[in-house]
Amino acid sequence: MPEKIFVTRSSMPPIEEYIEEIKTLWNTHWLTNMGVLHKDLENKLKDYLKVKEISLMVNGHMSLELVIAAMKFPRGSEVITTPFTFISTTHAIVRNGLKPVFCDIKPNDYTIDEEKIEELITEKTVAILPVHVYGNVCAVEKIQKIAEKYNLKVIYDAAHAFGVTYKGIGIGNFGNASVFSFHATKVFNSIEGGAVTFNNPELNIALYNLKNFGIRSEEVVAEVGANAKMNEFAAAMGICNLRHIDEEIRKRECIVKKYRELLHNIDGIDCLKIPPDIEWNYSYFPIQIDELRFGKTRDEVHILLKQNGIFSRKYFYPLTSDHACFRNKYMNISIENARCIAKRILVLPLYADLSLDNVSKIISIILKK
Ligand SMILES: *Cc1c(COP(=O)(O)O)cnc(C)c1O
Repeated sequence: MPEKIFVTRSSMPPIEEYIEEIKTLWNTHWLTNMGVLHKDLENKLKDYLKVKEISLMVNGHMSLELVIAAMKFPRGSEVITTPFTFISTTHAIVRNGLKPVFCDIKPNDYTIDEEKIEELITEKTVAILPVHVYGNVCAVEKIQKIAEKYNLKVIYDAAHAFGVTYKGIGIGNFGNASVFSFHATKVFNSIEGGAVTFNNPELNIALYNLKNFGIRSEEVVAEVGANAKMNEFAAAMGICNLRHIDEEIRKRECIVKKYRELLHNIDGIDCLKIPPDIEWNYSYFPIQIDELRFGKTRDEVHILLKQNGIFSRKYFYPLTSDHACFRNKYMNISIENARCIAKRILVLPLYADLSLDNVSKIISIILKK
C-alpha cells in the first residue's frame, strides 16, 4: 500500500520549541484564564493580522457563535449568508435563534454574490454573514455599501483567510467583525482555537463576558456567558506556529504553482483564480471539474484518488442548506451557482510539506485516461 496522502496535514513546530514555550507553565501553574501566553499570542496576532482589536477563543465556531450573540439581534431575525461553506457558519446563525437566508455565490471566486444580496433583504434582516471561502476575498466594499444603506451588521467568516490582505489591508478589518479559525487543519493552528477581530472596542467587553461566564470580578457576574477561552497550551502552539507561518505559506505557494503548471490548459478543469489586489494565503487548492469537457465526473476523480491512497475532499458538498438538519427549513430560492459548483468542486491535498513529486503523482492519477 502506498503512503496515504490526506487533504491536509497539521503544521507543527520543532518539539523543542514547543517545550521551551510551555516550560513557564510548570512554574506558574496558570494553565488557562487569559494567562501570559494567551495575552502574548493576542498581541502577536494583532500585529500579524494588522487589526485593531482581537479576542482569542477556544475555536472558530465559538468565535462565530459568540460574536453573533454579542450583537444581540432579536430572535427570529434574518441573516443573509452563503450555503457554500463549512456547516459551522450556518450552525452559528441557527444556534443564536436566527434564520439563515441563503444567497447564491459567484462562479469565479465562490464567495457570496453581492449583486443578489439586496433582493433578499426584508424588514427582518439584521446582518450579512459572508465567507472568505478558500481565502478568496468577498466583495467587501460593495457589501459595506449595502450594509450601510439598510443598516445591517456584517460579520465575515474568515476561517480560511488567515494572513490574507486586500489592497494591503488585513482581511480582519472589514465589516463589524471577522472570525478566524486556528483549527489543526487550517493554515495557522493553535491545535484548536479561533479569534474575533473588530474595530469597535466595546465589542471587546461583550466578547470577554461571553467567553468567560460574564464574570467581571470576584463577586460580579454582569452578563449571561459561555466558556470559550483559549487555554495556555493552545496559545503556546499558536505562538510557535506563528514564528513559522511565512515560511509555511511560501512552501504552500510552491505547491500551488506546481499544481497550476500541471493543470494548465487541461480542458474541463478550472483552478481557483485570485485577483491581483489580494495577497492570498494558499490555504486550499480547489478545482472545478466539468464532466462534459473533462470526461470524468468529480465523484469519479474523488474515488480514483481514494483508490490510490489520496484523500481529496468535496468541500463544499452538500451545501449547508441541503444537510438534513436544515433542508426545506429555510429560504434558498435561487442558489443555482452554488448548487452547480458543489457538484463539481474538489479540494486537492495541500500542506507545507507535501512534496512536488506527490503533486505530480496526484495530477497524473487525475489525468489518467
Ligand atoms: C473551520 C471553519 C469553521 C470553524 O472553525 P473551528 O475552529 O473548527 O471551530 C468555521 N467556518 C469555516 C468556513 C471553517 O472552515
